[in-house]
Amino acid sequence: MFHRVLQRSWLKLMRPPAELAVERQRTYQVFMQIYLFAILAHISFVPVIHWLDSSLLQLVNSLCIVTNLVAILLHRRHHFTLALLLKVLANISLITLGGMLMGQHTGFEYYFFIVLFEILISEMRRHIKLLLVLSLLALSLISVNWLYGRMGIWPHGGDALKVLHSLNLACAGTLFTCIILQMHFITERTELRFRTDASHDSLTGVFNRRAIFTQAEALWQRGIDFSLLLLDADHFKSINDTHGHSAGDQVLRHLARLLDKTLRDSDCIGRVGGEEFLVLLPRTCTREAQSGALRLRHRLAEQPCRLDALTLPVTLSMGLAQSHEVTTLRDLVELADRRLYLAKSSGRDQLVIEGGEEVAAYAGGSAAVRVAGD
Ligand code: GH3
Ligand code: MG
Ligand code: MG
Repeated sequence: MFHRVLQRSWLKLMRPPAELAVERQRTYQVFMQIYLFAILAHISFVPVIHWLDSSLLQLVNSLCIVTNLVAILLHRRHHFTLALLLKVLANISLITLGGMLMGQHTGFEYYFFIVLFEILISEMRRHIKLLLVLSLLALSLISVNWLYGRMGIWPHGGDALKVLHSLNLACAGTLFTCIILQMHFITERTELRFRTDASHDSLTGVFNRRAIFTQAEALWQRGIDFSLLLLDADHFKSINDTHGHSAGDQVLRHLARLLDKTLRDSDCIGRVGGEEFLVLLPRTCTREAQSGALRLRHRLAEQPCRLDALTLPVTLSMGLAQSHEVTTLRDLVELADRRLYLAKSSGRDQLVIEGGEEVAAYAGGSAAVRVAGD
């Protein structure tokens, strides 16, 4: 129960606002996680600072927690730079104060690198980033060399100093690792989403035209024998005209789902036109491809698309060609297309597996061999 509430809150926090451009959503999520990590780090420092017995440091550490909470609110309202600058300012204050109170070798200076990293991966303009980075480097040099130890020196023993130094090193390292890992994970996920969006048809979820032709090209280049099946829904326009465009969309989705269910995992399905699909069947002879196509035809007749009380039956005209029948991929697609045309001109709702070799046959359609639809 608690786990589920936590998971839901996490997802809600991480979800970028819908109006944010896709390429900026990654930075949004990374910084949201940085603020959360920072809050956790500051909370884990409460007992350490208590042990160090510094109420001033405790106060600034608590202010850092509040600042990060404010940063989350600002970040959610798209004030990204302001949120980051607030966080950076609070962090620098804590780092510098820690050094001024405890002197050098406490490991507080490691956090300068975390801040530097946050500035560099932010969405600020490049020249502002450079300016901030230079200022931060100058400040860290001034702090470590002139400010550290100004307000006191390490009051505890040498062993305690080693413990604090190791703790700071471990904490800075952990923070750095978490941020890098999350960035890497979010980047990979975003890239996968971009790649999927770029290669898939948004309506049906199958490959889009460019991606299916890339798959065909890859098979052709590798010299793998394959069957190429072109399918076109018959009289599809009348479905749109009679039941509306969104009913037509549902039929297309249904068709893609049936194709996916009927064919093998190794077969590739793509939408190459409005109501036209192209299927690649690697290492499949005509007989096997033919039985796959007829299985599809049978299923489509048995399971038409249903919308509430409405049944929207649709048939397919199909043209099948084998890679070994031609010498170029372009010829292969054209051959399948001519056979699809023959299927259409011979009455639709059928598969054509032969004929159409001559361009003349395309016009006449006399050589069509109907193997289905009788
Ligand atoms: P044929 O049997 O000769 O193929 O006839 P058809 O009506 O299927 O073919 P035609 O080319 O005349 O019409 C195709 C129709 O497909 C017209 C177009 O509005 C529709 N269409 C194209 N893309 C989409 C889409 O994404 N969604 C919907 N609903 N319809 C689409
Ligand atoms: Mg059609
Ligand atoms: Mg068409």
